This record gives sequence, structure tokens and C-alpha cells, in this order.
Amino acid sequence: MKDIKVSEDKEKERMGKIISLLEKNVRSDCALEYTGDPWKLAVMARLSAQCTDLRVNQVSKRLFEVYPDADSMAKADPTALEKLVMPCGLYRVKAANIKKMSEIIAGEYGGKVPCDMEQLLKLPGVGRKIANLIRGDLFGLGGIVADTHCIRICGRLGFYPQTLKDAVKVEKILTPLVPVEKQTDFCHRLVWFGRETCNARNPKCAGCPLSALCAAFTVNKENNKSGQLS
Ligand code: SF4
Repeated sequence: MKDIKVSEDKEKERMGKIISLLEKNVRSDCALEYTGDPWKLAVMARLSAQCTDLRVNQVSKRLFEVYPDADSMAKADPTALEKLVMPCGLYRVKAANIKKMSEIIAGEYGGKVPCDMEQLLKLPGVGRKIANLIRGDLFGLGGIVADTHCIRICGRLGFYPQTLKDAVKVEKILTPLVPVEKQTDFCHRLVWFGRETCNARNPKCAGCPLSALCAAFTVNKENNKSGQLS
């Protein structure tokens, strides 16, 4: 029991150092360009599955001109909505989800997105990743957004095996390691860090500010001297 506690404390300490380095080196704004409207963030987050944030930002400009709020999207013609979200891929299911989500938000919550986790998870297309994003960004409630960048980077850093890809398990592991008030910014920073430095195919380990604290880099260094991940 004591050993587990010591190891948890060590991981918290290591995470604290990583958070400080990210705060010094990486921006923390949300990659999705929404305007502080929870409904818009919920729609954009749903569109972002298997799509780039850049594409979602482009598509959303026109989408919100046509449907500026949950009420108007709830009444949208399904075919017209599909056409608008088509560039984001998976457009049939995404269009159906954001229409139904808007119907519920307009009909049951007076146009306002709820902050309660259980209520958020009942919205079509909203999983824990989107729910945590909304709760953290718009309601200041924190939450680990276990997206592809978060899962990959924290696996490389050694907080769990790199083979672990289960977002719910990753969220559960990271939540006690990151102070709640820092969770939202931490996850936003991981998105930028994942794009600019620790990207999937060719991480820039040379010069990475986290290399001294990175398990994958340390193991590689022992094996091939440079530490660079291939
Ligand atoms: S050292 Fe390499 S693998 Fe580790 S965090 Fe930095 S870029 Fe990612």
C-alpha cells in the first residue's frame, strides 16, 4: 500500500514538472474557434471526429451563418444540413447527431447546454471527451479531454503503456495526476504540442522540452543513444 502511494506521489511530481514545462513552452487556446457559445462548441466538437480542427473551423463559419442557434438547427432540413457538414466526413451521422442534439438542447434545456456530466452524455454524439471539453472550457469544471494527442503523448511520457488507447481508462489515470484547475489548459496544450512537437509519425525529440521526463525518449536513448523516436 505504502509503495503504491509513493509511486502515485512520484507520478504527480513528474506530471507537475511536465505541466510547468508545457505552460512555459506551449499555447493553451482551444484549437476549435468557437465564440464562447456552449452549443457551438458542442456542435464543432462533434464535427471534429476524424476531421482536422482547421476544416471544422472553416465549415462552422458557414454552418452558424445558416443556423445561428440550437433552435434553428433543430428545425434544419436534414439534407441541407448534411450538405453543409459534408466536408467534415461521416456527414450523415454527424448531421443527424447535431440536429438531434440541438432539438434536445432547444426543447429540454431552453437553448442552453447543460453542465451536468450525465445530462451531457445523453446528448447524441456526445461522449466523455466532448463533455469534458464543454465542462472545462465553458463552465470551469475541469476534466481530462482524452483525445488522440493526449492519449499518444501521455503514453509516450510513460503514464501508462503506449499500447493503451482506451480514452476512458486514460482519463481515469490522468485525472488524479493533474490538478482540476489545470486540466483544461493542460489538454489544450497537448493538442498544440502534439501537432508541433510530439506528432504521431515523426516526433521532434531533439530539442523537446519534455525529453528529460519522457519515458519513451529515455528508453530509446538507452537503446540507440539519440533517444529520437522513429
Ligand atoms: S521526447 Fe519525443 S516522444 Fe517524448 S514528449 Fe518529447 S517529442 Fe514526444
